[in-house]
Amino acid sequence: MRSLRAFLWIFLGAGSIATAQEGPAFPDATNESDHFWFNLPAGYTVADAATLGEQFDRILEIVADRVGASLDQKITLVFDYPRPGHCPSRAWTTASRDSLPMIFVFANEDTPAAQIKGALAHEVGHVLDEAAIASRRELAIIREGFATWAAGPYWLEWKGVRSFRSAIASYKAAGTYLPLHENDGFLDTLSEDAAQRFGEDCLYYRDLIYTEWGAFIEYLVEEYGREKLYTLFRTPPLINEGENVGRPNFAAVYGRSLRELEAAWLERIEYGE
Ligand SMILES: [Zn+2]
Repeated sequence: MRSLRAFLWIFLGAGSIATAQEGPAFPDATNESDHFWFNLPAGYTVADAATLGEQFDRILEIVADRVGASLDQKITLVFDYPRPGHCPSRAWTTASRDSLPMIFVFANEDTPAAQIKGALAHEVGHVLDEAAIASRRELAIIREGFATWAAGPYWLEWKGVRSFRSAIASYKAAGTYLPLHENDGFLDTLSEDAAQRFGEDCLYYRDLIYTEWGAFIEYLVEEYGREKLYTLFRTPPLINEGENVGRPNFAAVYGRSLRELEAAWLERIEYGE
């Protein structure tokens, strides 16, 4: 509804984006905190907006700080029960540059709190990406890596690892590491292809690939800085004919291919620099 205007102020370096909002993006939001409107199904006992508000506000502030952006607009947070299927989303966001930011978190009584927080932090990363970085839409997996890196401590706690670097070292040691340069397009875990490739371990591999890309993003930020990464996100990707998702153009921004950057990064992890 176009008459519902939103007020959104994002500050990232010198740039700012503004849209407008005066209320939640979903009807019947029952509660609010500094950064969220909460919407819970009737009778839902998994999360209590009144007690979680402060924790969730803290998550948003930590993620925003990592990303270097601020969001002067509340995110509508909708809780619902877990999705069916063998590789379901634990959360998703409908954030886009021209709609109100909305995050869905899927959880029931059996869902660990670390999963709720980790999944929420990851989605907040997507919201900030959409609003403040304005990444190219054709980029796919690297934006998942960005949201995973942005979630930082919340993602690591959920996955039970000490650091992104130690996660990579453990994948290498176990022989489960999947080369990024062979997984730099679109990871469609709902596809037949993925079902055949990952089978019952689909969720495990999805998280593994997200964690690998998150760890690589951490390296790029530490080595080359955040602004260069955001330049990459705004640079037209390499797209094969007939495809609508593309691969980040590392050579254009970093002067090195993904394969070369990945090799340098893995060498550093191996030698523990
Ligand atoms: Zn995601």
